[in-house]
Amino acid sequence: MLIVMTKGSPEKDLEDILEKLTQMGFTGHVSKGVERTVIGVVGRTYPELKDMMEMWSGVSEVVLISKPYKLSSREFQPQDTRIRVGDLTIGGEEIVVMAGPCAVESEEQVLQTARAVKAAGANILRGGAFKPSSSPYTFRGLGEDGLKILALASQETGMPVITEVMTPQDVELVSRYADILQVGTRNMQNFILLDEVGKAQKPVMLKRGMSATIEEWLLSAEYILAQGNRQLLLCERGIRTFETYTRNTMDISAIPIIQKLSHLPIIADPSHGTGRWHLVAPLALASVAAGADGLMIEVHPNPESALKDGAQSLTFENFERLMEQVVAVALSMGRKMAGSAKGEAKEVAKGN
Ligand code: PEP
Ligand code: MN
Repeated sequence: MLIVMTKGSPEKDLEDILEKLTQMGFTGHVSKGVERTVIGVVGRTYPELKDMMEMWSGVSEVVLISKPYKLSSREFQPQDTRIRVGDLTIGGEEIVVMAGPCAVESEEQVLQTARAVKAAGANILRGGAFKPSSSPYTFRGLGEDGLKILALASQETGMPVITEVMTPQDVELVSRYADILQVGTRNMQNFILLDEVGKAQKPVMLKRGMSATIEEWLLSAEYILAQGNRQLLLCERGIRTFETYTRNTMDISAIPIIQKLSHLPIIADPSHGTGRWHLVAPLALASVAAGADGLMIEVHPNPESALKDGAQSLTFENFERLMEQVVAVALSMGRKMAGSAKGEAKEVAKGN
C-alpha cells in the first residue's frame, strides 16, 4: 500500500502519518522523489484502510500495490536508486565494473589481480573469503585472513571491496572489511541472513538464486529493504536450465525486466552466468547493451591453477581486452564508464 502525499504538504503531516502507522503496527518507508513523496506501508494491510487513510491530512491518494513485492517496486519509487560507494555511484548513467578472483587464495594473488584489474579500468575489487561450495572437499576460503588480504589490496589500490557473507553471525565481521556485502545465489532465500544484512549499514548486492524466479528474487530484496537498508543492488548470475554446455544460462532478459519492475541497480555476472571463460566477454557485452548498471567479472593471474572457478576466470590480458570492448559498447549506448573522468583528471593532476 502506498500513501502518496499532496505536493507541498507540510513535513508535519508526514511525521504525523508515520507516527499513526507505527501505532497501528505498520512500518512506513518514505521515498522522496522530485515529483512526489510516497510512504510505502509495510505490514498486514487490507483494502479498507484506503478510505480511512485518504482522509488523513496531507494525503493525496492511497494506491494498493498489486505485486507481492512493494519497496523494491517502481510504483513505490519511480526514480532509479543510486548507491554511493566511495567516489562511485552505482545506478544511473555510469557503468561500474567489479573484478577479481573467485576466491582469495593468497596476498600475492589478490594484490597482483587488484593492480591488473584497476589498470584495465575496474572500479571495485571482488574476491571471496567465505566461499559457498557445492562440495565440502573443495576450497572453502581463508575466512578472516582473506578479508584482511582484501583490505590490504583495497588500501593499496583505492578500490572498494565486495565480498560474500554467508551467515547472519558473520555480517558484523565482514562489514568491518567490506564496502559491499554480497549475498550469493545459494543464500538468496536465507531469510535470516537477509534480515541481518538488512540491518547492516553497508550496501548489499543480492545475487539471483540459481532456480529463483524474478518475483522470488524481488521478494528476497524486499526482506533487506523492509529492514531499512535501501542501499541494495541486484545481480543476475545465470539460472539452471536443461542446457549442460554452460554452467548456468545467463538470463539477459532479467536485466530489462528488473529495470521495468524495480528501481534497484542491476549488475550482470557473466562469469557464473556461463561458467566458461570464452563466453564471458560476449555475455558481458550483451549485458551492457541490455542496460546493466555494472558487471562482475572473475579474473585470476593464472586461471589453470585457480583454487575455484578457474574455467570461468579471465587472464589479465583477456580482461584488459574485454574492458576495451565494454567501453565501446557503453559509449554506443550513451553510457559512461564509472571513474573514467576522474581517472583522467588524476592523470592531468599528476602531469602538473
Ligand atoms: C561468487 O561470486 O564467487 C559466487 C559464489 O557467486 P554465486 O553465488 O553467484 O555462485
Ligand atoms: Mn566464483
